[in-house]
Amino acid sequence: MIKNIYFDVESRKRRELIDITEKLKELVSKEDGSGLINVFVPHTTAGILINENEEGLKNDILNTFEKLVPENEKYEHNIIDNNADAHILSVIIKNNSCIPFFDGKLLLGTWQSIFFVELDGPRHRKVIVTFFK
Ligand code: ZN
Repeated sequence: MIKNIYFDVESRKRRELIDITEKLKELVSKEDGSGLINVFVPHTTAGILINENEEGLKNDILNTFEKLVPENEKYEHNIIDNNADAHILSVIIKNNSCIPFFDGKLLLGTWQSIFFVELDGPRHRKVIVTFFK
């Protein structure tokens, strides 16, 4: 069985890590047996990552993004819409993650949370969750 579920995310900052773990846990809670969800963002300036939800670490990750791909660099794409840094970071982070589940529970490690990564907000965004069972 394969099915897709969509939900919306509203970002408030240009670059932001938004924890979507609880929403995903809720969607998986009705599923029995073993399966896999793919969490996909249909955007070129956003991403999905899995890591620890700790305020200092989230700042460290955002600060490292800025060191790797500075917002105010000269990029060719900026002639068009001034967001090349967001596209480049999206390429590095990638736009999907697969997570296994069993009997209504995501098989995440103790310190793992799932984040929607906003790279060119604030914007109205979509997340597509595909269930494989
Ligand atoms: Zn662009």
